[in-house]
Amino acid sequence: MSKKILILPGDGIGQEVTSSALQILEFIVDKFNLDFSTKILDVGGTAYEKFGSPIPEDVLVSAKEADAILFGAVGAPKWDSLEWDKRPEQALLTLRKELDLFANLRPAFLFNELADASSLKKGVIEDLDILIVRELTGGLYFGEPRGIDKSVTPAFGFNTMRYDADEINRIAKIAFEASQKRKNKVCSVDKANVLEVSRFWRETVTDLHNKNFSSQELSHMLADNAAMQLVIDPNQFDVILASNLFGDILSDIAATLTGSIGMLPSASLDSSFKGMYEPCHGSAPDIAQQDIANPLAMIGSLSMALKYSLGEEMVASKIDLAIKNLIKQGFRTKDISNGENYLKTSEVAQKIIENIENE
Ligand code: NAD
Repeated sequence: MSKKILILPGDGIGQEVTSSALQILEFIVDKFNLDFSTKILDVGGTAYEKFGSPIPEDVLVSAKEADAILFGAVGAPKWDSLEWDKRPEQALLTLRKELDLFANLRPAFLFNELADASSLKKGVIEDLDILIVRELTGGLYFGEPRGIDKSVTPAFGFNTMRYDADEINRIAKIAFEASQKRKNKVCSVDKANVLEVSRFWRETVTDLHNKNFSSQELSHMLADNAAMQLVIDPNQFDVILASNLFGDILSDIAATLTGSIGMLPSASLDSSFKGMYEPCHGSAPDIAQQDIANPLAMIGSLSMALKYSLGEEMVASKIDLAIKNLIKQGFRTKDISNGENYLKTSEVAQKIIENIENE
């Protein structure tokens, strides 16, 4: 049966980088005879201007039917003063919530040719290739009760970090399954030395490992040590499994190690590996419509969609290799160039296509 891909370019450079990914998608559909159907709809500020809502009803309906969603980016200062339910970010938040996208996958990898852009020494960062699997819909950010109480002295604020066994099992399963496509190593991060919820997290992950994934390597690490180890020796990791809070912090540390935000893709998945794929960056109004945005994070997001949601791992690896080769051949977009010689956004897809043709 035909796989459904919904494309939501959004605002600013979201539209430009999505157009590059779409060019590659059309090429691979043709070259590898893929049975995909695609639909393009407006979201964010662009949808608000046309339809009065950042996420019109047909977007939600199509998103629920889709196997994979390619999401560009939303937002711009001109919409910042809108009421909260009309703001472009609602598109993203509504989709995550309505589709129960509880698993956030963020690869952090380095092209060795770009090692000088990292804040770490070349020898430490070279060959970096980590995947952070972060629980996205539970934990401290959503736990109840929560609040601020000013009726007593001293006033206080509080949140609840809570995970049940089902929530832990489903995110751990995603981490183990993702690592099967990589180096078969999962490091689960927690604070089991001080938090009961972490002790339960560790126990549950260990049980699942023993039951279903015992051929894979599982280790546990305290979150503070994991932050330190990511900076000292990031290459010791393959897949890092973390709760919402720890994953939020660790994925930003890992992302900054690699240099440019324009290179980093991400995926948010539900329990059946359907998902939404987007670059880690925003809509970059400062460079929108100048044809200078780096579309590689969006193109990498297309590759992740092929790998995780569309059952086309071989085609995904061809795109990954083509991106690697493009960098090796010395081609750069403006953000990673010397500012003089660089490819325009609209030229990148064609170079990727040529590289796939030549593989
Ligand atoms: P941003 O990621 O859009 O931009 C940060 C900086 O990185 C800017 O200087 C930008 O020019 C640069 N940059 C980002 N992506 C790039 C790319 N692909 N190529 C080259 N340079 C790139 O973050 P921001 O400026 O804080 O936010 C701008 C708007 O985007 C805001 O409205 C914000 O709410 C929104 N935003 C949306 C998302 C999303 O849709 N997922 C995420 C973050 C921010």
